[in-house]
Parts: sequence; structure tokens; C-alpha cells
Amino acid sequence: MAKILFSPSKYVQGAGELAHLASHIESLGKTALIIITESGFKRVGEKIESSFKESNCSMEVCHFNGECSEVEVNRIIDKYVTNGSCDIIVGIGGGKIADTAKAVAYYTKKPVVVCPTIASTDAPCSALSVLYTEEGVFDKYLFLPQNPNMVMMDTEIISKSPVRLTVAGIGDALATYFEARACKISGATSCAGGKTTQAAMALASLCLDTLLKEGLKAKIALEAGACTDAVENIIEANTLLSGIEFESAGLAGAHAIHNGLTVLEECHHMYHGEKVAFGTVTQLVLENAEKEEIEKIYKFCIEIGLPVTLAQLGATDVTKEQLLEVAKAACVEGETIHNMPFEVTSEKVYNALLTADALGKYYLQKFAQ
Ligand SMILES: [Zn+2]
Repeated sequence: MAKILFSPSKYVQGAGELAHLASHIESLGKTALIIITESGFKRVGEKIESSFKESNCSMEVCHFNGECSEVEVNRIIDKYVTNGSCDIIVGIGGGKIADTAKAVAYYTKKPVVVCPTIASTDAPCSALSVLYTEEGVFDKYLFLPQNPNMVMMDTEIISKSPVRLTVAGIGDALATYFEARACKISGATSCAGGKTTQAAMALASLCLDTLLKEGLKAKIALEAGACTDAVENIIEANTLLSGIEFESAGLAGAHAIHNGLTVLEECHHMYHGEKVAFGTVTQLVLENAEKEEIEKIYKFCIEIGLPVTLAQLGATDVTKEQLLEVAKAACVEGETIHNMPFEVTSEKVYNALLTADALGKYYLQKFAQ
């Protein structure tokens, strides 16, 4: 089987970069469709408009209705592409806007540009869009034939987003090295449909090193309202490094355990990356990682405020039966936990969950001031 690496064609990151949006995309078409919420446009609309003043490219604004659904995607296609002249699709905002822009571009075969205003997951760079029903229930995955033509991170905007979102992004990115390592050992096929390249493994290592070196500095800077080099490095790790790596090296235990945790009603208010962080420490227990490594990751999570116990995830009185359900859901056929380099059963995952929670309590006592 071939080795395959997926990545966006172009990645742009910088403070205030949204003011140069048009110059980065004018080679892609003539009229950009800007998909953005009304409040988002009030915040950053002037910046976007100013970038098009000096450009050969024009823009039209579409206010997003709030849900990434087939209905919304079709509404946008009809109004702005089929019966309009837009030929570049630009999504500016959170994950649902990025997914809507990707879906519109996919159905109309137009180039797509994603400009996230938060750094809470590694989804922006991926060739994947998640559709929901109008009621917000999961509908389907769209596996796209290619990654976005461009992903642009305006770090000035992102550094003003809630700190907890960026920390959740660190949690999502924390899993990537360990999942890549597991996939590499087992020889699993990645989301890109091939084996892992050396490049993806190098990015996975760089991703973990960056998080451990810069995570705490970035969090403290963000809390102080500052955008520093550490913040820049964390935004890149959360989005580009983790994004390329999860598609091109693969997912394993941490994300499957995250999916298992979604059966607990008590955890629904937690962000994706927060649950993935607990999935990561559980994976480390499952694979009986070295004590030094386990201790390093717990210490890091505690320092930056990622959950390491079930109670911190909101599941204070979870029963044995509930935890068995979580383990079972993490192990259903086709789950990425089966990319681990050994046989995984729900019994093993249940025991790992119990231990990860107990270790979390132990290290909280040891490390929390
Ligand atoms: Zn994730």
C-alpha cells in the first residue's frame, strides 16, 4: 500500500492577516462568497471589505443561519452559486461555518478557503465536512476529494476568542502524536487512505513538543489578553500540525474513547478536545506506556487545565454499568481503537478508564497547587 499525505494547498497565519484575504485568494476566481454570521461580520467585516478594495476580486456576503445542514448548504448554493456569480467559497467563523463552506464547494466543484476564528480543533485543514439535520443531530460525513485550497488563521482574532476553546484545541492536538505512534506500529491505514509518511511522523513529534514547550506560556498569555510567539506556535500546532497528522497518520485509542464518552449525558457540555485529552491519558494506560511519559502528560494537562478525571468531565457519580457502556461504544466495529497495535476489548478499555481516572486523582493531589 502507498504512503499518502494530505494537507491544505496553502496555509497562512498571522496577526491581522484577514485584512489581506483578497490578495491571497484572487488567483482562485473572480467573486468570493463570504459565509459568516451576522455578528461575525459586525466584528471583522470592515477588515474583509478593505482587503477587496485593491483587488481584482469582488465579494458577496452570505449570513450563515447557524446550522451546517443539507438545507442550509442548498440554500447557499441556489442563491449565490447557481443563480449568482460566486466562484470562490470562503467560510469565516467556527467549525460549522468551515464545514458549510467545504460542503458548498464540494457540491459546486469550486475552490474553498477556510478562515477559523477559533483554534479549538484540528478540523479546519481536513478534507472532511460534518453535516447535521436542521435540529442539530448528526446527519452524515462528507469525505471530500481534496483539502481546502487555503486555511487562514488570523491570530489577532483567535487570540481574542475564549481561552478555554484554545486549551480544548491543545487537548485535541495532544492526542495526535500518541495516535500516530500507535498507527505507525500497527501499520494501520490512515484517513488519507494510505500508510504513514516520515513527514507525518515528524510533524506529529513537532506537534507534541510544541504543545509541551509552549502550551502553558500560551495559555497565560491568552488569559492576559496577549498574542505572543507562544500563542502563535500553539495555534499552528492545534490547527496545521495536528490537522495534517490526524488525516495522514491516523486516529487510534484517544478519539475512540472520546466517542465512547459521548454516551455519558453528563459530559455533553465538555468540548471535543477536553474529552480527547482524557481519551489520550486513557490510551496511555491502555498501552501501558512508560511511567515517565504518563506522568509528563498528566502534569501537562493539570497545568493547563485539561480534565484528567471523570469528575472533571462532569461525570461525578458514574456507575460501573455506565463506564462499561462507554468502553463498549469505544470498541464498536470500525472504531479507530482497533488501529492500536494489539487486540483491544471493551473489558480492557473499561479497566483503562478506571485506572486513568484513579491516576488523574493521584496526580491532581501531586501536581495541583
Ligand atoms: Zn479531534
